[in-house]
Amino acid sequence: MRPRVLVLGGGFAGLSCALALPASRFAVTLVDQSPSFEFLPAIHELVSGLKRPAELRLPLKPVLAREGHRFRRGEVVAIDSAARRVQFAKGSLRYDILVVAVGAADADFGVSGVREHAMPFKSVAQCAAIGRRLRSLLREPRPGRVTIVGGGLEGVECLGEVLRVRGDRDFPVTLVEAGPRLLPGAPAPVGRHLAAHCEAAGVELLCGEAVERVTAKTVKLAGGRRLRSALTIWTGGPAPRPLLAESGLAAPGRWAAVADNLRLEGADDVFVAGDSGELPQPLARQAYHALAMGRHCAREIERAERGRAPRAFRPAEKPQLIAFGERDCVLLQGRHALASPKRLSRCWPPRTSNRSYSMAPNPTQPLATLKRAWHSYATALAISSSPSAVARPMTAPRASPYARPMADRLPTTRAWTAPPSHKCHW
Ligand SMILES: Cc1cc2nc3c(=O)[nH]c(=O)nc-3n(C[C@H](O)[C@H](O)[C@H](O)COP(=O)(O)OP(=O)(O)OC[C@H]3O[C@@H](n4cnc5c(N)ncnc54)[C@H](O)[C@@H]3O)c2cc1C
Repeated sequence: MRPRVLVLGGGFAGLSCALALPASRFAVTLVDQSPSFEFLPAIHELVSGLKRPAELRLPLKPVLAREGHRFRRGEVVAIDSAARRVQFAKGSLRYDILVVAVGAADADFGVSGVREHAMPFKSVAQCAAIGRRLRSLLREPRPGRVTIVGGGLEGVECLGEVLRVRGDRDFPVTLVEAGPRLLPGAPAPVGRHLAAHCEAAGVELLCGEAVERVTAKTVKLAGGRRLRSALTIWTGGPAPRPLLAESGLAAPGRWAAVADNLRLEGADDVFVAGDSGELPQPLARQAYHALAMGRHCAREIERAERGRAPRAFRPAEKPQLIAFGERDCVLLQGRHALASPKRLSRCWPPRTSNRSYSMAPNPTQPLATLKRAWHSYATALAISSSPSAVARPMTAPRASPYARPMADRLPTTRAWTAPPSHKCHW
């Protein structure tokens, strides 16, 4: 009898885990409330219409069926780890080994009116809806203000796409960030570099300003100012899903704490991978870490089955690409930065906590080649972890199912080298 492995969540972590498990040895079922895997790192491009929803979705059922696994669509409402059972609104599923990979919810920091009046920026459907609202706003004779709340990676990439749509039309765009600068998690020169773009584009940048309340037509700041806002986009960043605490896998409002081998503290048959988990050494919540965690869980499940000792998950450093519409794209890795049109002017601190990797959608810039390669191999992490990797040929992973829907857009050249004038070391 094959052990029953139940994977909750068909995102980066859950799907990579399920696909790494052999159906010959495990009866794998993956559960997701959505029928498709969603490629979240490129959803900002839906705002401008550069991408269509179908390009960022991959149906889970056939992908899993190809590997001999089952897919069940449904929202998990409770996990009973003592009884080894997962509960849906109707029905339940039992398991021998559970992998929890339900990602993250959207943080609203308890700000009133966010759920009712701001447009969230967290899924394909939500970003497509923002794009539709933006285009309808632009059809008005005098479009009102677009307000983006949050100046992290999501807010910056969203702003880049809003500016792409705006072109040379004249309507007010404001970005509000509670921290002292753009991209609080990245080195300061990168934030300044993008702030200079904002200034040139006439974007009102309000850093150090917390939002207190959102209404249908306004955004009220803690400092007392009230902005009229025709479209408010909320990019609050990740927050733990309530399911974790409700099921006893985490303390209220916290992520699920896991050991370095990704097992839930105190439960050898429960793994947590991707955004939902909190390692002893916290990691940036990024797609490439989620993928690696999912694959590590699969290896651990196989090792346990063979009676072998657990191994620690060792995250690898990868570059981070920050897209800014058609204006710019910045690649960060360790102590190196590449920016598309200009050199960054100052060095950043030698040690930085934000060492993560993302995609860069910028068809007019050299970094776009890298982005296309990333999208083609999508979740397969074609870039190695060494600092010189950005100039190395990329290799396609073995039978990556993610690559298939995008195969027609594969670049013919898979190597990318930064033009010397765009390279900046410190
Ligand atoms: C706007 C945005 C931009 C981003 N940009 C980048 C980037 O450029 N680079 C990068 O590396 N990372 C980026 N990230 C982060 C990256 O997308 C996440 O780190 C990654 O998706 C985490 O993978 P995961 O598998 O843990 O969760 P997810 O990919 O979120 O998958 C979780 C899955 O669980 C399912 N699920 C949740 N709750 C339930 C339930 N109760 N029942 C059933 N199913 C459930 C969901 O439907 C979903 O399919 C971005 C994230 C966002 C939101």
